[in-house]
Amino acid sequence: MNSKDIISTNPMGKVWLVGAGPGDPELLTLKAARVLRECDVWLTDDLVSPDIQALAAPGTRIIGVGKRGGCRSTPQAFILRLMARYARQGRTVARVKGGDSFVFGRGGEEMAWLQERGIEVEAVAGITAGLAVGPALGLPVTHRGVSRGVALVTAHTMDGSRPDWQALAASGLTVVCYMGMSNAAGLTKELLEAGFVATLPVAVVHRVSCPDQRHIVTTLQDMARDIERAGLASPAVIVLGEVAALALPDRISEPACSWQAAMPIRPMPAAG
Ligand code: SAH
Repeated sequence: MNSKDIISTNPMGKVWLVGAGPGDPELLTLKAARVLRECDVWLTDDLVSPDIQALAAPGTRIIGVGKRGGCRSTPQAFILRLMARYARQGRTVARVKGGDSFVFGRGGEEMAWLQERGIEVEAVAGITAGLAVGPALGLPVTHRGVSRGVALVTAHTMDGSRPDWQALAASGLTVVCYMGMSNAAGLTKELLEAGFVATLPVAVVHRVSCPDQRHIVTTLQDMARDIERAGLASPAVIVLGEVAALALPDRISEPACSWQAAMPIRPMPAAG
């Protein structure tokens, strides 16, 4: 029997909520790497790169709790119970998520749930996919003179609610949209109705930082068509804003597109 299978006499373990970054194992923080090496049990999502599993100490129990082969994801209540069960056995548990656990990652809910049950929990920051896009594409999300800030939003919520698109359109902020790929045409319609400009530059980035990273740069009005033409699917983030036109050419598909070169960067209006 592996020593890690012997139930510890330590009354209470601990749960670490670890953000594993967008995919490239080198984008893991040193702290995340250290914590992962020290954990006995890992509960990992699909978006966590398999290369990261190489950090696991021998005997670590790694349990995949993400969506697989089109199956529904493991129910959240089950994952919570697993975390609690292992912690109560005195184990050190890593809940490993893609990106940052606290950005569309349920980290907050998990932390509160564990705290309510008296289980020690701590979180380690990860690089969220929407912000990894900047350095990966040479696309500064807050480029001076072009964008005063960035908003991270989701296009897909359980209750069907939406971000305040009108306010975002008026803000001039760069908008980074997570989970927007399932209905790009519907999203475009909503954005245009809310006042986003049809010619607004858009970058759609699939699997940022991974070896198969791909992206397109287009305009809002052509976004859905170009996503389909390029065959891009989830996981991808959609960057809406003038800064999107600064993206480098895609390293896998064609070099710079003619329309990209023709896309001027429009500076933001002076502050009112
Ligand atoms: N906690 C994660 C987000 C999870 S929500 C983070 O901070 O990055 C899942 C969504 O994240 C996906 O639908 C996609 O929009 C985005 N995403 C996650 N990993 C990605 C990647 N490597 N490249 C592009 N988008 C990614």
